[in-house]
Amino acid sequence: MNVAKVIVDVPSAAIDQTFDYEIPERFMDILTPGMRVIVPFGPRKIMGFVVQITDQSSFNKLKPILEVLDLVPVLTEELLNLGRWLANETLSLSINALQVMLPQVLKSKYKKEIVRSTEENLPLELEDLFQGRDVIPFEEFENSPLTYNQLKKAVDAGDVSIDYVVQSRITKKYITMVAPLKEIHLLEEALQDLPKSAKKQRAIIEYFIEQPEEISQKLLLSKLQTTSSTIKSLVEKGLIETYRKEVYRNPYDDDAIERTAPLTLNAEQQSAIEPILESIENEKHEVFLLHGVTGSGKTEVYLQAIQEVINKGQEAIVLVPEISLTPQMVNRFKSRFGKSVAVMHSALSAGEKFDEWRKIQRREVQVVVGARSAIFSPFENLGIIIIDEEHENSYKQEEQPRYHARDVAIERGKNNSIPVILGSATPTLESFARASKGVYKLATLKNRTNNKPMPEVITVDMREELHAGNRTMFSRLLMDKVRDCLEKGEQIVLLLNRRGYSTFIMCRDCGHVKECPHCDIALTYHKNNQTLKCHYCSYEELVPHSCPECSSDSIRYFGTGTQRVEEALAQIIPEARVIRMDVDTTRKKGAHEKLLRDFAEKKGDILLGTQMIAKGLDFENVTLVGVLTADSMLHIPDFRSSEKTFQLLTQVSGRAGRHELTGEVIVQTYTPEHYSIELASKYNFEEFYKKEMAMRRAFQYPPYYYLALITITHPNQVVVVQSAQQMVKQLQQIVQPGSIILGPTPSPIPRIKDRYRYQCMIKYKHEPNLRKNIQAVMNYFKDQIQKNDLQIIVDMQPYQMM
Ligand code: ADP
Ligand code: ZN
Ligand code: ZN
Repeated sequence: MNVAKVIVDVPSAAIDQTFDYEIPERFMDILTPGMRVIVPFGPRKIMGFVVQITDQSSFNKLKPILEVLDLVPVLTEELLNLGRWLANETLSLSINALQVMLPQVLKSKYKKEIVRSTEENLPLELEDLFQGRDVIPFEEFENSPLTYNQLKKAVDAGDVSIDYVVQSRITKKYITMVAPLKEIHLLEEALQDLPKSAKKQRAIIEYFIEQPEEISQKLLLSKLQTTSSTIKSLVEKGLIETYRKEVYRNPYDDDAIERTAPLTLNAEQQSAIEPILESIENEKHEVFLLHGVTGSGKTEVYLQAIQEVINKGQEAIVLVPEISLTPQMVNRFKSRFGKSVAVMHSALSAGEKFDEWRKIQRREVQVVVGARSAIFSPFENLGIIIIDEEHENSYKQEEQPRYHARDVAIERGKNNSIPVILGSATPTLESFARASKGVYKLATLKNRTNNKPMPEVITVDMREELHAGNRTMFSRLLMDKVRDCLEKGEQIVLLLNRRGYSTFIMCRDCGHVKECPHCDIALTYHKNNQTLKCHYCSYEELVPHSCPECSSDSIRYFGTGTQRVEEALAQIIPEARVIRMDVDTTRKKGAHEKLLRDFAEKKGDILLGTQMIAKGLDFENVTLVGVLTADSMLHIPDFRSSEKTFQLLTQVSGRAGRHELTGEVIVQTYTPEHYSIELASKYNFEEFYKKEMAMRRAFQYPPYYYLALITITHPNQVVVVQSAQQMVKQLQQIVQPGSIILGPTPSPIPRIKDRYRYQCMIKYKHEPNLRKNIQAVMNYFKDQIQKNDLQIIVDMQPYQMM
């Protein structure tokens, strides 16, 4: 018997296993593991992944596979194994672990279509539905007056058939091409025969006599100022042909990028790259931590290591945080490796992403530069994995499977016996601790390649500003420096560590703050349309005219958003041209790039924005960086808040003076004495590392302890509290002595989307069976989860404490 073991697309713990299906004769030769199939599952037909093909099953009557969706497996053998590891490591469902490796387009539900199978006339109602097309989406039938009975009759009569199609088939982009069908001398003959009046037809034939090559119909029509009916008559005469051709959507204009050659590495870079090249050569898995200040030439090291990998006929994955996956960054790779580079960026449309993914699948590229999920690129001959800005939080996925790309990279590195490079100016404490212990190899780049010192950082105590009577959000020093810059024609970056016009509404009389009725957090004021919005659940309401508590009409926004800073700047320095970059101004596709381009072309003097401007940008003319509120990140409920503050301040400082001009950084703060602010201003990572490690040790946090965060949610608060208490009791029975269980406590955001949230945390040093044990505890709650709408979210190594 021919048996396929299939993971079916039913995201439920009760179904998290493989199911056996019979492989019908007609699929025998084509089916391999890693392909998607349609299988019967109860009364439904659903998608599944074939993970194994065998000739035995412990069941004797198997249902057959109905359809095979792929002719080339979408998951390689390595990725199937990685999926198993991932599900286990993150306590996720197998189906989620497999789905996460595929581009969105392949993840979405397969589509049903009705296909016309006859040239004969269909019954009138059906002709109405088809309207001359050969294929129509099934939904059109569902929305039509036709009954299932009528459709079934047509199916039984063989007039139409129902097809299951993957989105991929319909999202491929086609263009119509025109090409000559006859040789040139025959075209010349035909030209003689064409009447003089058929000017347009003659023009097309003349065109093809000159250039007997295919051309897109659209381009041809516009070149010759004619219409498709002209083309049609020539097609009917058998002189030319039209056909559809698949095109890749390429958001980057590869041909416009100038190629660069490898630079001669300086001594620091040389000693950093040598052990990496050795590891490539010896096919030995090692993790390198490349610790180098901004501008120290880390990227050049990556580029040359990749070159070595390509020379060996292997492939490279480069991960870059979403936020710094800017055209500037992408161009550095494209200009070195040209068309061998695929880019995986969330700003691409689903179709564009799919195109890039297929370039990898078809071995058309050797390098992928992408955000988190690019770690799953289906290369089969991987030679190196690089994670730039390894400290970035965006490498952690905050939904199932809750994986960290760094862990996945190291797992793939082991499986392929290849080096993994982690690069950062501010490595995570976890990585630096591992490097200090020799688990990772540390390479340090201490100097900028241009040998310029890092820009000087001046901290300004905003409390003193207030005492001196300055009630604005800008210190006097910052304003002086801004004016200075403007006079010299230099540019400024201003960072506001906050989101959007992010501010809440508060009554000045009674202190009432408008909160989301579902999430227990302050609503955010959006000035554009005078609304209050919840950033967790999208709840929205109009700004009230008076306080709902005390009816006072002095209800105002409070706090500072980029839009307000922009307005304040306009009042103080009206001559400055400000480019504002935040979630609101970058929502539209391509807006991010456009704003940056404008700033690079000096269409603005000040680039004002949130975190998204802190990274990866490189502007020659920027000499002043101002951080308006350095402390705002210190007060979030997260044990990493000092580390995040240090990282952000260091990153943003690196934006100034990268080139000929010397830069300066002004940091405004209410707590200048805090070690993360003080040490960031001195670029003293080592000292910060020591201080912060001492804190982590004292409070038993990573890297001294591992964490597992378990969040329990339910619409009923009593149920949540009870379940959370039970959870803690259960956990106490499974952990080793020495491990610590915290909680249950309400989550920092105690309610989201009408569900109450409680959490407990396990801190542990050594728990070899923890995953298995947590799984068992989850099992204990099985009934409540399935029947009573209880939700348990497990996050191994959490990064977001909300
Ligand atoms: P990082 O990635 O560490 O921020 P980059 O790789 O971007 O640093 O290097 C900073 C600048 O120095 C870039 O403009 C780069 O072209 C240049 N650069 C890098 N390596 C060298 C080198 N060996 N010689 C000269 N210039 C270099
Ligand atoms: Zn009030
Ligand atoms: Zn809400």
